[in-house]
Amino acid sequence: MTTRNPVPILAIHGGAGTLLRSAMSAEQAAQYEAALHAVLQSGEALLASGASALDVVTEAVRQLEECPLFNAGKGAVYTADATHELDACVMDGRDLAAGAVAGVSRVRNPVRAARALLETSRRDAGPVMLIGPPAEAFAAAQGLESVAPDWYGTEARYQQLLKARQKLAQGGGGGQALLDHDGAALQAASGPLDDETKFGTVGAVALDAQGHLAAATSTGGMTNKRPGRVGDSPLIGAGCYANDATVAVSCTGSGEMFMRAVTAYDVSALMEYAGLSLADATRKVVMDKLPRIDGRGGLIAVSRDGEVSLAFNTEGMYRGSVRAGEAPVVAIYAEGGA
Ligand code: ASP
Repeated sequence: MTTRNPVPILAIHGGAGTLLRSAMSAEQAAQYEAALHAVLQSGEALLASGASALDVVTEAVRQLEECPLFNAGKGAVYTADATHELDACVMDGRDLAAGAVAGVSRVRNPVRAARALLETSRRDAGPVMLIGPPAEAFAAAQGLESVAPDWYGTEARYQQLLKARQKLAQGGGGGQALLDHDGAALQAASGPLDDETKFGTVGAVALDAQGHLAAATSTGGMTNKRPGRVGDSPLIGAGCYANDATVAVSCTGSGEMFMRAVTAYDVSALMEYAGLSLADATRKVVMDKLPRIDGRGGLIAVSRDGEVSLAFNTEGMYRGSVRAGEAPVVAIYAEGGA
């Protein structure tokens, strides 16, 4: 289908947000960097062995869900009711097949539930998105691991919820729900990005040796979110999108604005219809269109030609990329940032 011979590439993110420099220690930064590095290294091995982009992004996000440093799977943030509601989406650029789950509280790896739904929907023309208990039942029927609803919680995330409540009671915060990395700034120094103003969603985008693109996004949402609230992450075209004709995109940030801006699809549309390069399309969306509606955060994107863009309008974004046969590159802060 293609005469291109691209070098496979994987890019990942672990959320964007406010950088609290005073809260940063070299050890904390090193912990995040090591986690990103490990995921990229295993993704590189998969890509080099000929794995599909779809398998690589699913596995990369599964590993990020397992890491309590990030707001997805284990380590997901708390809702206002001190519960967890997780969302995830996977999309295959080959045929625009997709699967998504929202508001799940018992699925160990929501990205695997999304992937299973992608497969059944492609095979049986079934639903592309399921929510809540029926999504959990679907995942269990697919043989995926179930966990108790309190399995995702960590002490750090609970403290983040208490701080968020306290801050909101004092009239601070400017909203009801806080981005994970933003929310942790409330909490004293828990990571190099201010957790109070950090969006800790995770995501992956990849191009494989066959020239196919795929994207995956998974999140616990925002600290102190209203139960039932769903953000951009599981919504095709908002927080996740892949199309072999253009680009694969995974977003992180203030979900409501990313939904309203249809952010991930907008990058693709700017490339497809306006002929923008990947760099120009992501710059326009992240630095121009999102800020106009107070949208904060960033995205990772890989184009059909193998270009990569890791763009954000916050102080930092946990991010990294790797090309098959090369060493991973990871970063947290903006380039040139002190
Ligand atoms: N975009 C996510 C949401 O709104 C939050 C995040 O990126 O951390 O649910």
